[in-house]
Amino acid sequence: MQWKDFPKWGKWAANWAADYHANIRKLPVRSQVKPGEIIAQLPASPPEQPQPMDEIIADFESIVMPGITHWQHPRFFAYFASNASPAAVLADNLITAMAPQCMLWQTSPAATEMETRMIDWLRQAIDLPSDFSGVIQDSASSATLAAVLTMRERALDWQGNQQGLATQKTLRVYCSNEVHTSIDRAIWIAGIGAANLVRIPTHGPLRAMDTDALNAAIIADKAAGYLPIGIIACTGGTGTGGCDDIKSTCAVAKHHDLYTHVDAAWAGSAMICPEFRTLWDGIEDADSVVFNPHKWLGTQFDLSAHFIKSPENLTRTLAIKPEYLKTHGKDGVINYSEWSIPLGRRFRALKLWFLLRAYGLDGLRVMIRNHVAWSHALATRLAAHPDFEIITDPVLSLFTFRYSRENTDLDDLNQRLLNAINDDGRIYLTQTLVNGHLVIRFQTGQFETTQDDIDTAYDVIIEIAATL
Ligand SMILES: *Cc1c(COP(=O)(O)O)cnc(C)c1O
Repeated sequence: MQWKDFPKWGKWAANWAADYHANIRKLPVRSQVKPGEIIAQLPASPPEQPQPMDEIIADFESIVMPGITHWQHPRFFAYFASNASPAAVLADNLITAMAPQCMLWQTSPAATEMETRMIDWLRQAIDLPSDFSGVIQDSASSATLAAVLTMRERALDWQGNQQGLATQKTLRVYCSNEVHTSIDRAIWIAGIGAANLVRIPTHGPLRAMDTDALNAAIIADKAAGYLPIGIIACTGGTGTGGCDDIKSTCAVAKHHDLYTHVDAAWAGSAMICPEFRTLWDGIEDADSVVFNPHKWLGTQFDLSAHFIKSPENLTRTLAIKPEYLKTHGKDGVINYSEWSIPLGRRFRALKLWFLLRAYGLDGLRVMIRNHVAWSHALATRLAAHPDFEIITDPVLSLFTFRYSRENTDLDDLNQRLLNAINDDGRIYLTQTLVNGHLVIRFQTGQFETTQDDIDTAYDVIIEIAATL
C-alpha cells in the first residue's frame, strides 16, 4: 500500500463509514462473540510478505466486525456515550494523514494556537470564569493524575519531584465513594497510597460529600500529624451521577488552604446548557476542573478538557526542559507538553474546531436537552410499572432501576435480566451497585438516538423481564 493507492481505499473507507452508520440499528449493540473467538482467527505469527489490501479488508469485515461493540449505536445505553460526530471524525482523518507531533509550539504552531483558542471557546461554552486557563489532555484519568500531582507538589513546596516522599509527612486527599476509579489510580501513581485517600460520607438526594464531616476529617488528620493536600469532588459520578456541593466543598478547601479538583468527565458537557449549571454551583472556586468532550459532545476518544486556575502550578509540577526541547528565541509561546504527562501530543483541538463550527453550541444543546428529557420520561414510565422501581432518580440523563418480584433474590434477578437484555442485542445496559445491591443503569447520550429508540428500550426491558 502506497500513498498513490490511498484515494482508492480512502474512498472505500469513507463509504464504509457512512454505510456503517446508516445500517447500525441492524447490529446487536454489544458484541455477541465468546472469549477467544477473535484471537483464534488471527494467525499466530506476522506475515513475511506483503499482502494485498483487499484481503486485509475482507478479513477486517469477517474477523473484526463481529467483535465490535457498537458505541455509536443509538440504543447504546450502557456506561456513558462516547460520541463520534461525522465532523470530528473528518477532522481526525485529516490529523491522521499529517500525523503531526504537537508537543511544542514550533512542532506545529497551528496545533498549539488552535488549542489555546478552542479551550477558551469551551470555557465560555460552559461558563467558567475567564481566570481559568486550560489544556487538552488525552483522558480524564490523565487530567486527574496531573491535578493530584499538582496538589502534592504545591503542598510540598515543590520538593516531592526532587526528593521523593520518604522524608515527608503522610499526605492525605479527600473524596466521596461516588468518584470514579481514576481517582484511586491517580492516588496510587502519585505515591500517596490508597490508605490516604480518605472517604467522606455522603448525604442528600445527590449523594454529596457531607462537608461538615469533610471539615472534621481534615482537622482530625492535621492533629494526628498528616498533611492534607487536596479534595477531589465530582459532578456526575460514574455509578449514579452523584454530585458534590462544589460551593461548600471549595469553602472547606479554602479554609484549610487545600487544592480542589472537580471531576465532571461526563456531566461537564451538559454545562453548555445554563439550566444544568446548578449541579456545579460554586465551580468558579475550584482550582482544577476536567470534562470529556469525547463523551457526550462528539469529539470521539480521546479529547479531555482540563481547566486550571493556575497553569504556573501545573507546569511547575510537570514541565521538564532538556536542551533538545527548548524553543530558542520564541519566548512567550506555549509548549503544551509542559502541561501534561505524556510528551507527545496529537492535534486534538482540530476536532473541537470542526465540531463546534459544524453543529454550533445551539445544535449540541438541543441534543443534550433531548437526552435529558427522554431519560426523565423513561424513568417516569418505568416507575409507573408495578414490577419496576427507580433506585436513583435521573441526574441529567442517568438513572438506575431495578426489576422487583416478591420472594426472589433481586441481585440475581437483575443480573439475569441484564444478561438476557444484552444477549438479545437490541439495547445495551450496564449495572452498578447502590447500597451494596446490583441495580441497572440507564443513560442516554448517543448523537443519533431518537425518541423511538427510547421507546424500544422500554419495550425490550418489559418484554425480556416477563420471560424470566
Ligand atoms: C468516564 C469517566 C472518567 C474516565 O474518563 P477517561 O477519559 O476515560 O479517563 C473519569 N471520571 C468520570 C466521572 C467519568 O465518567
